[in-house]
Amino acid sequence: MVKRICLVLFCLTASCLIAQNQKGSGPSQPIAIRAARLIDGRQDGRPDSTVQSSVINDAVIIVEAGKITAVGSHLAIPPGATVLDLGDATLLPGLIDAHTHLLSEMDGTNISLQDVEMLRIVATQSTAERALLGAKLAREDLEAGITTVRDVGNSGVNGDVALRDAINRGWLPGPHIIAATRALAAPGGQFGRLIPEAQSIIEQEYVILNGPESARQAVRQALYNGADCIKVIVNGNPADVTLDEMKAVVVQAHTSGVKVAAHATDEKAVRVAVEAGVDSVEHGYQVYDDTLKMMAEKHIFLVPTDGTEQEYLDMTFGTRQPTPEELQQQNRWIKAYVVGNRDRLQRALKFGVPIAAGSDMYLTMPHQNRGQASLDVLMAYAAEGMTPMEIVHAATSNAAELLGWKDRIGTLEVGKLADIIAVPGDPLKDVTSLVHAKFVMKGGVVIKNEK
Ligand SMILES: [Zn+2]
Repeated sequence: MVKRICLVLFCLTASCLIAQNQKGSGPSQPIAIRAARLIDGRQDGRPDSTVQSSVINDAVIIVEAGKITAVGSHLAIPPGATVLDLGDATLLPGLIDAHTHLLSEMDGTNISLQDVEMLRIVATQSTAERALLGAKLAREDLEAGITTVRDVGNSGVNGDVALRDAINRGWLPGPHIIAATRALAAPGGQFGRLIPEAQSIIEQEYVILNGPESARQAVRQALYNGADCIKVIVNGNPADVTLDEMKAVVVQAHTSGVKVAAHATDEKAVRVAVEAGVDSVEHGYQVYDDTLKMMAEKHIFLVPTDGTEQEYLDMTFGTRQPTPEELQQQNRWIKAYVVGNRDRLQRALKFGVPIAAGSDMYLTMPHQNRGQASLDVLMAYAAEGMTPMEIVHAATSNAAELLGWKDRIGTLEVGKLADIIAVPGDPLKDVTSLVHAKFVMKGGVVIKNEK
């Protein structure tokens, strides 16, 4: 968390299917999904490979018991199958958001008060209340086509684990969640300087590290609390995590088979994270070429939590109409910021750093629900020069690998979970279609099927 700042009608049948099948087992009856084309998301080499996914015309996917059992062109329909004909649409793997905060929603209209806003949320909303907010935002993500998220902290005390488990039990609709529990950080977390009496508030949101042994202990505790991955705030506010602490986190996490996501916004913090051998650098707004090259060599993912110019304006002003002077002033820093982000993304691509899509959406956005707002990051990547296929890979197969779930999700292949979306037309010709999923299936269950 650092950036800055619909209504879907369910048919009765779809709602019943959701209620019955959130565990991902899916209906036992085969389902055949037809569409004009399909992008399978596969990459034949490493995720940074230039090999393109297969594009299949007159596509058919057969789904049985929540999994994909056949993918191809003009496939025979199994007897008794339910046929869903989606017409001029493109089938894709369900989208993955590798950087969410489903249990946080803040007002971003005063960027200078973000620390205070975060403090207000933590001091006034219980973990239970935030988990209920998470239930709403999780549903909005899923309806937008995001079938898996990695939730990286700012979730109260393990509220993300509660939400993940509730979704897995079929209590409510939402994406698969890879949960981080509380982020590990130096004293103060990301709150800035607080009075000593506020220590208990900090500990609602961050586990504080004081040396390598406490770092190892924090990872063990996170695993006990139900974490699927570890999140570390390398450059916090006011203090930073040290290289020794970072190394201890990485060794302990990898020994236990979980991955490490490092919040690192500037060169110094990114370098610490990369030298320690984390699995992903989140944000990485300012980073030198040498460090990017080291990321490529170590196969460390960059999760660029970038926004579009319009998104930054919407965050800043909310529903209020700015004066021409305000607009001019904001545009100046927004344009410089966007240019800087584009430059570092282009350099990362040039050096072969694998990219996984992550929104870092945690703000109230005017006219958009959480799912819609989270997909803006894909449009930011397009504006920064990524090709539509690179964007598809970042939000599917690359993110699946980063999450450690590439055996389950991220491509449309036999044996994978039937997490499938369809977008109108051809996203390789019009990339904006990626943010307008008209069909969403999770684990073989139809979540949304708009005509
Ligand atoms: Zn974040």
